[in-house]
Amino acid sequence: METHPVWLQPVKFLKGVGPARAALLEKELGIVTVHDLLHLFPNRYVDRSKVYRINELQWAPADVQVYGKIASYRIEGSGKTKRLVAVLEDGDAALELVWFRNYGWVKEKFPPGTPVVVYGKLNWFGKRVSMVHPETETAESFKQRGYLGLVPVYPSTEKLTKRGVTNKVFRQIMFDAFQNPAIRFSETLPGWMLRDYQLTGKDEAMRSVHFPKDMNSLSRAQYRLKFEELFFLQLQLLYKNRYRKTKIKGHVFQKVGDYFNKFYKEVLPFDLTGAQKRVVREIRRDLRSGTQMNRLLQGDVGSGKTVVAMLSMLLAVDNGFQAAMLAPTEILATQHFQNLKKWADALGIQIGLLTGSTKKSERKILLNDLQSGRLHILVGTHALLEDNVQFRNLGLTVIDEQHRFGVAQRAKMWKKNQIPPHMLIMTATPIPRTLAMSHYGDLDVSVIDELPPGRKPVETHHLYAREAQKAYNFVRRQVKAGRQAYIVFPLIEESKVLDLESLMEGYDRLAQQFVPSGIRMGMVHGAMKPAEKEAVMQAFKRGDIDVLVSTTVIEVGVDVPNATVMIIESAQRFGLSQLHQLRGRVGRGADKSYCILITDGKLSEEARTRIRTMIETNDGFRIAEADLRLRGPGNIMGTQQSGMMRLKIADLVKDGLLMQRARNAAARFLEKDPGMQLPEHQTTVRIFKENFRKAGFWNFIG
Ligand code: ADP
Ligand code: MG
Repeated sequence: METHPVWLQPVKFLKGVGPARAALLEKELGIVTVHDLLHLFPNRYVDRSKVYRINELQWAPADVQVYGKIASYRIEGSGKTKRLVAVLEDGDAALELVWFRNYGWVKEKFPPGTPVVVYGKLNWFGKRVSMVHPETETAESFKQRGYLGLVPVYPSTEKLTKRGVTNKVFRQIMFDAFQNPAIRFSETLPGWMLRDYQLTGKDEAMRSVHFPKDMNSLSRAQYRLKFEELFFLQLQLLYKNRYRKTKIKGHVFQKVGDYFNKFYKEVLPFDLTGAQKRVVREIRRDLRSGTQMNRLLQGDVGSGKTVVAMLSMLLAVDNGFQAAMLAPTEILATQHFQNLKKWADALGIQIGLLTGSTKKSERKILLNDLQSGRLHILVGTHALLEDNVQFRNLGLTVIDEQHRFGVAQRAKMWKKNQIPPHMLIMTATPIPRTLAMSHYGDLDVSVIDELPPGRKPVETHHLYAREAQKAYNFVRRQVKAGRQAYIVFPLIEESKVLDLESLMEGYDRLAQQFVPSGIRMGMVHGAMKPAEKEAVMQAFKRGDIDVLVSTTVIEVGVDVPNATVMIIESAQRFGLSQLHQLRGRVGRGADKSYCILITDGKLSEEARTRIRTMIETNDGFRIAEADLRLRGPGNIMGTQQSGMMRLKIADLVKDGLLMQRARNAAARFLEKDPGMQLPEHQTTVRIFKENFRKAGFWNFIG
């Protein structure tokens, strides 16, 4: 990034690195240049400004320095577990030090009676405490060297440690590198930003983060570097948003025409909620503006996003354009099609469905009608992205459950027209604010934050497997009262076969329960043919099936308002957002609904938290936040495919407030300097352009 050639030099030229270590660093951590190495930030720090006494260890952090005298040595175990154990004493208490393999030197270097300072991680077995492979030095040499203060711990791998590139070695390499007078970091952010956001200079921050003097300067350094990282991320996103608004023309949907009005006045069986109305207004404003719409529609399960999509598509049709709606699974696409078709028929609009299992003959007619413009709306799965699917004039694309579609796929839809269609992206799972800001920060956002009237929150309970009978009795009573129920079993990708077996077993077990009482059962799972799945779903929808046993194929979007019970078996195996999605299948009608989470085996702390969160709240945003805290951002959605730069120091979970500030700074930057021409912005602009180049155009704009 920096212009000075030293940055771009390979790390092997650094003192203490050499070709072998350089190769290892590249393979294990992707470090190639000096610049890469210096941007390897510590992931934590240990406080070595204190030496503990052994009886203080109960309250000490996991990694500590301890003073004592070696009292004795003994050998324990045999074979692979053969180890040297030393007893360290300080007059009040004792601590055991343990070495496996190659411990011959230990006794020699530290004979019994030697006062030492050891450093390492504590292991507790009840009241006994030990430390494995401690960093050990004599008290005398410790005294000479003095306290280390805050010591950085660098992210590393097992292989690096095994090959001798320990944390101590990392520290030394960094230390030597920073001694090089050519290594100075020039400022990357403009002066006004440093002043307004009270940021430490770049060079000082880089030095402090690797060699912190104290907690205060360390946290200021981290703040600065995180801010910088998030600023460049936000600058990219806001630039993208602005680029599209200024440079990319959009179809103008000037008219609110007959279809929209007729649908609203005559077909729609209910009034829109206030939130739905507001969102429709936001969308209409975009569609009239002359620039391309890129809008994210967030709303909890059941908040009524489909109607909003329909109204938006009608605006396209009213203005002589076609519209497309993409869904991630065949079940969902089919269901959307059926719902929309009822409405389309009432309006006299042509609508089609295209999925992987559409018959060839049907497909041909469909594609013809699409190209001639006879077809107004096309609903479908990924099949819709194929190149031979040609629209006459596609004006709007709605993508349901966006996180399953990547940037490349969005780009494909764009390219189906000279002028790209407007994009409305709907997510079923609410996205925590910080994630929305980083992953969808280039989109304009609308939120439906209100459920349709009369919706009662789903009552959620937890049962252990041995109490499961209570749940089944409850299902029986609900079915007697005319309701329907889902019973869901987990399906984990890697072990499809095993899980299918457990699904079948589960089905048989439940059949013994239910069939004798005249309850009609059905089953759906991922290994079934789409047509078979569809047939079962339809039967459930019609009410010909009372209890539907399934895997998570029913997770997203399925809508059967008469279903009032959702039982989730082995609930401990589901993630929070998945549980919330599943629960969202009930509570869609007028009747009170229930979700029963059945767990088997001992629950991990995390599983317990998930269950508790589910019982405590129905609020999708709160659940999304909890999920983010539990699992970290990487697992929440396709983080990798979002084309976002990888964060080196900032943390999406913890740095939400900082992200907001960095976004604000990026907005001001663009406001002050729309053409990116101010002299004082040139370093910043150069780095920004470098990122742009690395990300590639579609990741950048699409
Ligand atoms: P989601 O946002 O999860 O996609 P849907 O669009 O499937 O939600 O809507 C859930 C259910 O609520 C559907 O049965 C739909 O017809 C109904 N619904 C949507 N909006 C309203 C409203 N304003 N008043 C009453 N019912 C509504
Ligand atoms: Mg939906």
